[in-house]
Amino acid sequence: MSSDDSRRRRRGVGTEAVHGGESRPRAGNAITTPIFQTATFVFQDTAELVAHHSHEKPREEYGRYGNPTTEVAEAKCAALEGAEAGLAFASGMAAITTALFAVLQQGQHVILTDDCYRRTRQFCRTVLGKFGVEATIVETGNARALEAAVRPSTRVLISESPTNPYNRVVDLDQIADVGRRHRLLTIIDSTFATPVNQRPLDHGIDLVLHSATKFLAGHNDMLGGVILGKQGVIDAVRECQGVLGGVIDPHAAYLLIRGLKTLHLRVERQNASALAVAEWLAAHPRVERVHYAGLPSHPGHDIARRQMKGFGAVVSFEVKGALDDASRVVDGVEIFQMAPSLGGVESLIEQPALMSFFELTTEERLAVGIKDNLIRLSVGLEDADDLIDDLGRALG
Ligand SMILES: *Cc1c(COP(=O)(O)O)cnc(C)c1O
Repeated sequence: MSSDDSRRRRRGVGTEAVHGGESRPRAGNAITTPIFQTATFVFQDTAELVAHHSHEKPREEYGRYGNPTTEVAEAKCAALEGAEAGLAFASGMAAITTALFAVLQQGQHVILTDDCYRRTRQFCRTVLGKFGVEATIVETGNARALEAAVRPSTRVLISESPTNPYNRVVDLDQIADVGRRHRLLTIIDSTFATPVNQRPLDHGIDLVLHSATKFLAGHNDMLGGVILGKQGVIDAVRECQGVLGGVIDPHAAYLLIRGLKTLHLRVERQNASALAVAEWLAAHPRVERVHYAGLPSHPGHDIARRQMKGFGAVVSFEVKGALDDASRVVDGVEIFQMAPSLGGVESLIEQPALMSFFELTTEERLAVGIKDNLIRLSVGLEDADDLIDDLGRALG
């Protein structure tokens, strides 16, 4: 970096979304990053191979170890999060599981917060458990419980913010502080926030991860995941990815790059529409309760205002009544479509009790905090007035 560069203001999120991570000029003088749709990469002679392996002239080798399109997607995500390095995966779960496999060893201990992505909890409990790694789940936002859960063997503290489906918010400064004092690696799943609304690394968090399937790609048309952080940890996770193999396809990496170019515009609009929907729902006589961090009634509102620029597109609410009353609302909408996932341009609706927690009884669901009358919305890019009319008809 020249002294001129260091005096420059940090570029804005929109400029990073459009240009971040993309070198100039590009192959074939294209304005877009080309899709390197290739499984492997050719060496001209043995000297080139030897120079590559001895790190004199590092270059591409085989698709599982890297691809130029994928590397641009990784660099763009890193630019948006203010990270030294990034790594892309076939899915968000591939990112989470590979990162945890890379940093944990037998006999170590992980702390995670409740109300987190169900498969993350399942991975820590069942898969990591098989390899002698223990996991403790603490209540999101309960600082005393968090501190009490730390053991000498604790290595990782993983949390989400905001959480799924209740939009609970963890104090990122507090998580980073606990991590520093106990020498833990802190990881935040920031999928619900996006780097437009929150940048966990700026708070001293070690690793940020995203299901890129959601807002980052943003068009409900690909699966992907990313992790961002310091070069050393990312390199270690990359090594592990080379063994486990959960790499992103170059075409999916291209869709991620393309989606990221409008991330700031999409998220700003989704923030605004979701807040309008949440406020309207909160005033509706058939709605028991709305879980959206942008509402002053939400328990995480003050922390969210401190550490977030916007409150995201996911709005959860409880319909007055039981399971069937909520199902009637889900079946009554026309613009919202019933599907798992979130963060894309199309608005989605689902009843968590029947979508992700179907095989559990009402009691078992309540034990993990999922109420039968709960509905989760992902507010997309349709006009907010139309979405509100749609919900109004279904609730009425
Ligand atoms: C969807 C999601 C994941 C898993 O990502 P996939 O891309 O579906 O594998 C992890 N965490 C959160 C918060 C998610 O919403």
